Formats: sequence, structure tokens, C-alpha cells
Amino acid sequence: MDGYSSNDISAVVEADRAHVWHHLSQHKPYETVDPRVIIEGKGMRVWDARGKEHLDAVSGGVWTVNVGYGRESIANAVRDQLIKMNYFAGAAGSVPGARFAQRLIEKMPGMSRVYYSNSGSEANEKVYKMVRQIAHKHHGGRKWKILYRERDYHGTTIGTLATSGQAQRAAQYGPYPDGFVMVPHCLEYRAQWDGAHYGERAADAIEEVILREGPDTVGCLVLEPITAGGGVIVPPAGYWERVQQICAKYDILLHIDEVVCGVGRTGTWFGYQHYGIRPDFVTMAKGVASGYAAISCTVTTEAVFNLFKDDPTDTMSYFRDISTFGGCTAGPAAALENMRIIEDEDLLNNTIAMGERCLNNLRALMEKHRVIGDVRGKGLFLGAELVADRASKEPLDEKKVQAVVADCMAQGVIIGATNRSLPGLNNTLCLSPALIASPDDIDQITDAIDQALTRVCG
Ligand code: PMP
Repeated sequence: MDGYSSNDISAVVEADRAHVWHHLSQHKPYETVDPRVIIEGKGMRVWDARGKEHLDAVSGGVWTVNVGYGRESIANAVRDQLIKMNYFAGAAGSVPGARFAQRLIEKMPGMSRVYYSNSGSEANEKVYKMVRQIAHKHHGGRKWKILYRERDYHGTTIGTLATSGQAQRAAQYGPYPDGFVMVPHCLEYRAQWDGAHYGERAADAIEEVILREGPDTVGCLVLEPITAGGGVIVPPAGYWERVQQICAKYDILLHIDEVVCGVGRTGTWFGYQHYGIRPDFVTMAKGVASGYAAISCTVTTEAVFNLFKDDPTDTMSYFRDISTFGGCTAGPAAALENMRIIEDEDLLNNTIAMGERCLNNLRALMEKHRVIGDVRGKGLFLGAELVADRASKEPLDEKKVQAVVADCMAQGVIIGATNRSLPGLNNTLCLSPALIASPDDIDQITDAIDQALTRVCG
């Protein structure tokens, strides 16, 4: 590996083992096996400390590196910007901040304002704070509740965990603040209601919660356009139209969490754009700069924005929030170049074509492996739910699901799974290759799954 001796790499692995606390990881095994350290990346592939090459089918593990690894043009854009002007607090604007906001809004008809911060959690927290401030200022303290959906995820802070529809993620960090209320999920494969028009029925379940809570107490509904870590759930036909009607009927702001789906992942710039939704808030993070710099955006309409500037003499009327590193210029500089790459390399169309190929490959595997109960997704955002029995839909044992993931890893293909976030339902394999994936990459990914399923499940 370029630039590192084997001694350098051994020293890095030892320093990591001694001092780094890895995210989402049980560390006990690292007393006897090396922690995973990724040294290099290029295109769709990464190399670990042992020099092993992996095809990355999950864009950096968590749907992030949309334009692939090793993009010198992004590194150069960030470098040039940092030398000119690296940082000033976000009460002031910046050249890349203004330019990226303009380019982004061009892609989001109906939206108007971009508020910068650093992570998906933070972007979502900003919405929750805006909703609460609107409630205090414009609704006499009412309309303060925020509804979220079972199986959705919105972040890791205490505020966003209060809106975790994934019980195991939130279980040990309570108590949580008041005013966050869960609505049922909409996964038709695990239908909660009988009968036709499942999409409308699942949306009506939201209305039932609103009526139970009292419409004048509910300010906002937050939803992922397609649920990510909760099992790659594409809402059924009719769902979004009804959701939009319900929000309009009860004057409830609609917040779409595009932290995963945003910036091309599903073959449109934003996931909500498949469904003709008119959101009041859109949040995004991961793919905005493909992990080349930390950046997240909370995007609102002009109508929402205006609620915070109606009375310039009132010092309580503006949004009293700051994110120190929301003033870093590396993020928007990287995001601008990231967006140029997606446009110039026609990556949205590639995402649609490669997504169809991947979905078709998975459907073919379904004919062969009875353990695949359902395949679903949009663009390069796909899932395969594994079951012990197709008739009863009993989820496949989590250990076997993990064995499939480990087998793919041994073959040099990194895939993901709904990992320890849903009680009894950590059984969906998750695929989200970079938007640059080629037909050969897609086939290599699904071939690895085919072989893993044969070995693990017979
Ligand atoms: N929203 C969704 C839909 C996510 O999947 C995630 C992260 N997995 C977040 C929000 C939180 O983003 P971050 O980890 O950048 O805080």
C-alpha cells in the first residue's frame, strides 16, 4: 500500500487496538483478533491493514461514499478552499456555502433555505428545535409534539433517539424528553392490517395517532422517504399521497429525513421526489459530500423561514441556534464538487440502471434460495429480507444473517444487515454500492450473496 511500510501499518493497528473506541462495536474480540482498519480506497474498492481488497457494497458502511473513493478533484477543491478561507462562524456566509445552497435549491423545487451543520443527527435536531420554536411563537405553545415512525431512525443524540423507531438503539439511553410519539411502520411484507389499499391504510394509522394525541398538539411528522437501517422499506402505493393529505388537513409540518436517500442514492436527487411530496423540511448528510468532509443541511421552505424573521425587534424571534463547525467551508466545497461529479458522470441514470440490475439479480436469487422472503428497494438502495420459513415469514436467526455477511466479507465483498436495531427483525441484508457501480460490480456483489447463502443456509 502506497506510502506505508508494513511496520507503519502494524504500529497503526496496535495504536488503534490500544486507544480507539470503535463505533457500534463490541471490543472484547479485539483482545485476540486485530481490529479492522481500512487503509486505502479507490473507486468501489477498499484495502484493509492486511492488504486484503474488498468490493464495498455499502458505500463506506453506512450509505455515504456516493461518488466512490479517491476522488482527487474533491480533495483539490477542499484544499484550495481551505487555503483561501477555512472557517468563520456561520453567522457569516462563505463562498462555497452560498454557491452550494444555490445549486442545492435548484434541485429542490419548492424549497428555499439551507441551514448548515455537521451530521444527520444534528440536521434533524435543528428541525425539532425549529418546530418547538414555531410552537412557542406561533401556536401559543401548542403543536409541540413530533411524530416519528416505527422502524425509522433519525440519529444518535438524545433528542433524535427520542424519535428512534428502532427499539434496540434507544433502549439503554432513556429517559427521553416528552412530546415524541410513534406511528406504525408501513412495510407491506409484514402487514399490520388486512385488506386492499395497504398504503392508504398505513397512512390512516398516522391519522389515528394524530386524533388520539389531539391535532392541536402535533406540530410535525418526520419520516424517512425509504426507511434505511430499519429494513429498506419502500412505502406502498398510495401511502405518500395520503400522508401529504393528512399533514395538510391537520396543519402538521412534514419533515423528510433524506440523510440516507439524499443526493442520488435512489436515482433521483432526493427520495421524496419519487412521490411528488411537498415537504416543509428536508434534512441530508451522508451523500452530500460523500464523506470527503463533514456536512449536513437542514432545508426549509421560504414559508417556514419567514416564521423566524417576522419581528426584527423581538430578540426571541430568530432561530437561536449555532453549530460551530457548520461554519467550516470544507463541507460545502466538497459538496459542490460532489454534485458536479454526479451531474457530469450521469450518475443518477447509472443508479437507476444498476439498481434495476441488482434488483433483478436479487429476484433471481429468490427463485433459488427459499431463505429470501422479500427483496425491495429503489436505485442503489436495496434489501433482501431473510426468513426461516416463507409461509410464516419467521425471521432467519440473526446469527445466520451475520454468517451470510461474514461469508461475503471473506469473499472480499462488504455488505450490510439490519444489525441489532430491531428486536427479532435483524434479518435484512442491505446493499448500497456507490453510484458509480458497474454491471460487473453488481454481479460480483450478488454472486457473493448467492455463494454465502448456499454455504450458510444450504
Ligand atoms: N437519519 C438517518 C435516516 C440515518 O440513517 C442516520 C445515520 N445512519 C441519521 C439520520 C444520523 O446521521 P449521523 O450519523 O450523521 O448523525
